[in-house]
Amino acid sequence: MTGEPVWRPAVLATATGDGRVRCDLCPHACVLADGEIGECRVRRNSGGRLETATFTTTVAHLDAVERKPFFHVRPGSQVLTAAGPGCSFRCNYCVNHRLSQYGRPGGSSDFAGDPAQPSTLVSQAADAGAAIGLSYAEPSLAPELTLALAGLAAPRGVPVLWKTNGFLTAAAIDLVAPVLTAVNVDVKAATDAAHRRLTGAPLAPVLDAIERFRAAGVWVEVCTPLIPGVSDAPAEARAIAANLAAIDPAVPWHLVRFTPDFRMRRPDPTPPAVLARAAADGREAGLTFVYVERALGDQGRATYCPACGVVLVDRTLWASRENHLVDGRCPGCGLAIPGRWA
Ligand code: SF4
Repeated sequence: MTGEPVWRPAVLATATGDGRVRCDLCPHACVLADGEIGECRVRRNSGGRLETATFTTTVAHLDAVERKPFFHVRPGSQVLTAAGPGCSFRCNYCVNHRLSQYGRPGGSSDFAGDPAQPSTLVSQAADAGAAIGLSYAEPSLAPELTLALAGLAAPRGVPVLWKTNGFLTAAAIDLVAPVLTAVNVDVKAATDAAHRRLTGAPLAPVLDAIERFRAAGVWVEVCTPLIPGVSDAPAEARAIAANLAAIDPAVPWHLVRFTPDFRMRRPDPTPPAVLARAAADGREAGLTFVYVERALGDQGRATYCPACGVVLVDRTLWASRENHLVDGRCPGCGLAIPGRWA
């Protein structure tokens, strides 16, 4: 299909009594008159009913779980990734902007996707021994698809994962947390002002979401892209690390190398020295598991036992090479390592 995505009834809607509908999915809290479309461009009021365009997917392919990235979730396994359109953020450097910025200048206005087929996606994942992942655009805009996939995936033992900006209301988290095994949340800035500049949205709901997902038993990892001249100042990385350490020192923190894309073509890729310094700052702030996927070699990607220093999981650029854990424990000293290892 090309052109318009399919529009389907959406959850988390409150009628305001005057024909308008408030969307309760994300903290933008759009109140939409009939025919109006939300800030995300993928939820709308159609005749007093909230609808979503995210029950449409454009890709479905198998990938290593390490690419999402999840380093403490089933190392060496695969994920069948699906993506619909849309995002509640407007990051100028988004590598998936054609999909995520659907309906906005620079994004796609001609969505080449098909109505999602949850049973087909779940069968594909189950047959491959893979998890299902929603990624590339913003999965939190697709609770309807997430719930439909999870309803079929749970009986077949297929985990459901999100790579998300974490910009959800408490009600939305409570709706999806019971069916999610793990989420990787982007924390893109240390202060509210910097976060608004980068994304167009406040920071506090993202940190609240990390805590709420964790309290609900969802495994959480965090990514922070370090953008030269924008978010790579030492103080910025230290403050983000301190925020995460205050939530839980064992939250895995992935430092992501920026590469020029979309409206941010000027900065060069993040220098390895900047990533190395931020990783050291993260550890100094108390974080136990700090990772750099690219730029620092295998050492930046390996998981080490925090007690005895043994290598627990050894990784290549986009996959696990060897997993030495024994039932989630260090083979050297027996320490239980936090994660979802089976
Ligand atoms: S999900 Fe979209 S429509 Fe709903 S509140 Fe957020 S931006 Fe607005």
